[in-house]
Amino acid sequence: MSVAGASVPASAPIRASEALRKKLAKIGLHSEADLLVHLPLRYEDETRITPVARAPWGEAVQVEVVVSSCEVQFRPRRQMVVRALDASGELVMRFFSFYPSQQGALSEGSRVRAFGEVRGGFFGAEMVHPRFQKVGEEDPLPTELTPIYPSTAGLANSALQKLIGKALDGGDLSDTLPDELRQRLKLPGLARSLHFLHRPPPGTDLATLHARNHPAWRRVKFDEVLAQQLSLRRAYLARREQGAPVLVAQDDLGARLLDGLPFGLTGAQLRAMAEIGADLAQPYPMQRLLQGDVGAGKTIVAALAACQAISAGWQAAFMAPTEILAEQHYVKLRGWLEPLGIKVAWLSGSLKSAAKRAQLAATAAEAQLVVGTHALIQDGVDFAKLGLAIVDEQHRFGVAQRLALRKKGNNPHQLMMSATPIPRTLAMSYYADLDVTVLDELPPGRTPIKTRLVADSRRDDVVGFVTKHVAEGRQAYWVCPLIEESEALQLQTAQETYEQLSADLPDLRIGLVHGRLKADEKQAVMAAFAAGEIDVLVATTVIEVGVDVPNASLMVIEHAERFGLSQLHQLRGRVGRGQYESSCVLIYAGPLGEIARQRLKIIYENTDGFEIARQDLQIRGPGEFVGSRQSGVPLLRYADLEMDADLVEMARDVAEHMLTDHAELAERHLQRWLGSREELLKS
Ligand code: ADP
Ligand code: MG
Repeated sequence: MSVAGASVPASAPIRASEALRKKLAKIGLHSEADLLVHLPLRYEDETRITPVARAPWGEAVQVEVVVSSCEVQFRPRRQMVVRALDASGELVMRFFSFYPSQQGALSEGSRVRAFGEVRGGFFGAEMVHPRFQKVGEEDPLPTELTPIYPSTAGLANSALQKLIGKALDGGDLSDTLPDELRQRLKLPGLARSLHFLHRPPPGTDLATLHARNHPAWRRVKFDEVLAQQLSLRRAYLARREQGAPVLVAQDDLGARLLDGLPFGLTGAQLRAMAEIGADLAQPYPMQRLLQGDVGAGKTIVAALAACQAISAGWQAAFMAPTEILAEQHYVKLRGWLEPLGIKVAWLSGSLKSAAKRAQLAATAAEAQLVVGTHALIQDGVDFAKLGLAIVDEQHRFGVAQRLALRKKGNNPHQLMMSATPIPRTLAMSYYADLDVTVLDELPPGRTPIKTRLVADSRRDDVVGFVTKHVAEGRQAYWVCPLIEESEALQLQTAQETYEQLSADLPDLRIGLVHGRLKADEKQAVMAAFAAGEIDVLVATTVIEVGVDVPNASLMVIEHAERFGLSQLHQLRGRVGRGQYESSCVLIYAGPLGEIARQRLKIIYENTDGFEIARQDLQIRGPGEFVGSRQSGVPLLRYADLEMDADLVEMARDVAEHMLTDHAELAERHLQRWLGSREELLKS
């Protein structure tokens, strides 16, 4: 694929021995270009020598000593112990792993410069595993700070430094940003920036280099983010070159669905519907993410999209990550659409074989909407004419699964939905190849949810609160502690919580639902809760997504400190769906760690999912939002999405401009930064 056009020769391979090249490959260094953008983690000051006796403890310094003895000891464990002297005193250097070559370099009489922290050991001043170098008596000190590179076992920093130095002197440092653009962005040239970072000029101070807001770092970070934007943008454009069915409604199915609803759409829903509707009528596949906080009303928007596909003579598929959620959707969608004469099929792993055969046959023939779980993407599921694939809670599926659903049709349109809000910077980078529609308005009549934090020593108060709540005619959820390590333990805890609450609240009707129940058992419990036949529903996190019972207005979560923020937010969103005042009680067990304390504070203080996600990103980093498994996008090495948000914004505009007006530079830029890794981005 080459939307950008020009093809550019790959960067020169690294000239080094086979063994060295293997080690370099381990840390992703294959070409000269890779070396050039392999930047230091930090710098060390080897421009000065500190006398051993005056080395401040706990601070890394360089000493120059002459070895007086070097021996390998075996007690208490195998180690090489080197005694050495300078004019001020004695130093012991200890190595717990070492190569014969190092042992040789440290033989008696050798003069070495060692860099590390001096500590007070049993025998006086000690350095453990210093970085060292054999020197001659007259060898001059370096005049520059020493860059310390990310490395791997057996690959010395000095070796990397030498290779990178060579690449700097002879490699391709040509700028890939057009000059006038670079000046407008107020960024320094690339060659200058790389020289500065790899070989900081004498006199540069450590703090400046480590602060990462130096213009040279900004340039590097910008280039890195730009490569990501270029790649995503290119994938986006390439998708537009593929054909897709043009889905234009041929009758008033959508209007009839709307007419039958007991509510009118919110402004946000109407806007979303219009955007999606326009996409579906294009001759290339839609790839749109519909984002909306818990309860924003995504399902009806998806149903209307399905109506458009169906009305155009195509099928729609609706996939959800759990059986409970898929089932709820099935019931709801069937309730909406069957009265309008639409045939809805249902596929889940728990179907008995005869029923399954019938549903598969319907899917391959007359069904117009097929709802289900992962069962939809299994082999042997054939769609007659799939025109629109809808994926609910898309972040719970991997790239491969979403792709598998798409493969069930011939380039169908895709609508993905998520209640896990993606902070803006993340959306712009990891999801830049998607179009995003945000439902930024909740349906009217939602009541704000009061959140309380309660220490587990006051569990009795919470039980009292539940009693009062039920006496007022409402229902409650009681979510059991999350035990990630063991499903069996999780189950046991759920059972115990159920028994304990049944004993504490003998007059109330208590129900239990967890992941190990059979599908029809789960469904029976959920149906009883929805019908008001259960007062308190004890649940594991299976209720996290999708459940919709307006009369349930109290959510109790035990061991809230074990849950992630988005999980807590999702769970809390299960209440506040009716006209009743709703509360969420978060029971926590102390003592709380710092992160847990911060999380609880965030969820306590915020109700807006986007704000929660933004703060969550700050304490966790982007990994858990998108994980490279999810996105296929390698994480950034230098730029930080939150701190460098302005660079992401800049890069996005520049990427668009470069692909149209500077295709060759764009190609070279991608080659330099992503090289062979770009394949990863296209999945
Ligand atoms: P989510 O965005 O979390 O998937 P749902 O689609 O499940 O939310 O909608 C939550 C509830 O709100 C459902 O009961 C749904 O029928 C209802 N709903 C959706 N849109 C509106 C609206 N415009 N007015 C009133 N209720 C609505
Ligand atoms: Mg939903």
